[in-house]
Amino acid sequence: MKKLLLFLFLNSYFGFSQKIMIGLFADHTLRSVDISFQNGLYIIFTDSTLQRITDSSGTHLKIEATEKGLRLNIAGVIYNCNSIKLIPEKVSNFFRIKPLNSNLKERLYEGELHVEKTEKNNLKIMNFIEMNDYLEGVVESEAGRGQLFEYYKVQSIISRTFALRNWNKHDKDGFNLCDQVHCQAYLHKRNAPKNTIDSAVNATSNFVLTYQDTSFAPTFFHANCGGQISDPEWVWNSSIGGLCTFNDPYCMNTKQGTWTKYIPLTVWKDYFKKTYDFPIEDSAYFSLLTNFKQDQRMSFFIHPQFGIPLRDIREEFRLKSTYFSVKLEGNNVVLIGRGFGHGVGLCQDGAMQMAKSGYSSEEILYFYYPNTRLREQNPIRK
Ligand SMILES: [Zn+2]
Ligand SMILES: [Zn+2]
Repeated sequence: MKKLLLFLFLNSYFGFSQKIMIGLFADHTLRSVDISFQNGLYIIFTDSTLQRITDSSGTHLKIEATEKGLRLNIAGVIYNCNSIKLIPEKVSNFFRIKPLNSNLKERLYEGELHVEKTEKNNLKIMNFIEMNDYLEGVVESEAGRGQLFEYYKVQSIISRTFALRNWNKHDKDGFNLCDQVHCQAYLHKRNAPKNTIDSAVNATSNFVLTYQDTSFAPTFFHANCGGQISDPEWVWNSSIGGLCTFNDPYCMNTKQGTWTKYIPLTVWKDYFKKTYDFPIEDSAYFSLLTNFKQDQRMSFFIHPQFGIPLRDIREEFRLKSTYFSVKLEGNNVVLIGRGFGHGVGLCQDGAMQMAKSGYSSEEILYFYYPNTRLREQNPIRK
């Protein structure tokens, strides 16, 4: 009976093209989670043994990491093992996962759930999922709801390209990508049927951005460039083929287009004195610290000869961007800034605005990634 059920399960579930393994809750340390199921049945493996198939009455599982391995609790029955796999009967099934002893929220995911133990006796939680289902979660996490279809197509293509270009980024961890912004945010809340995000991912299925030589293009993006795309060299000290600086006329009349921040003058002075031994006692130098203009993006504060990268100031004062000017106002310095994020690659606010003005996804992609080609690739990754 078990074998027959397993055959029926696998027959209906397998046969899809490209799957990806994602590390979940990758920046958190978890010792135990609660899992429940929605929309259909799952088979449960401990190590390589088929233990049981969930019933439809809302089974809850508790998985805990211990010094000896994993401890799986299914309605009071305990299984000790080193790995657990939950495989859905059909792709539309989804499960809920809630970290215990933590204030992290419950999340919903489709696909398989794989659990192992880390060397430090914590849980390693992974989602093995169809590429398009993964991308639906990424597009929602990275772009939010309420955007236009053409914009979601853009976000789908750059997120797919990113996933394939960075396929081995977490090799040492045993998965392809993590669910954090370190890779791409993937905080999947399952979307309602026939929604715009899922349609956009499916409409652009297998489409990627490549260089002329067909290798995957670097598809960096950010929230708002403040009117000028950054050169990667200014942000990461190294150039990245195909990415360069240019003016973006589409993003300035948006919420994130401009920002202002007040910093007490003493805090501002102390930082430059302590970190860069800046001669603040000299009135000419002091004046440089409090009168700084950035009409076009720069990579260094005041002048390159002082060796103060703007990205260090951004990090220290948690600024939205490095694209700011400084003036003195009473006992404060006022930073008048533009944009949000590193500014490299595609500007999301600009791209959303282009979509609203009637540009196609292809036109938007070629504007932000001028040296690339849109290609349909074979869905099977070797
Ligand atoms: Zn990552
Ligand atoms: Zn922009």
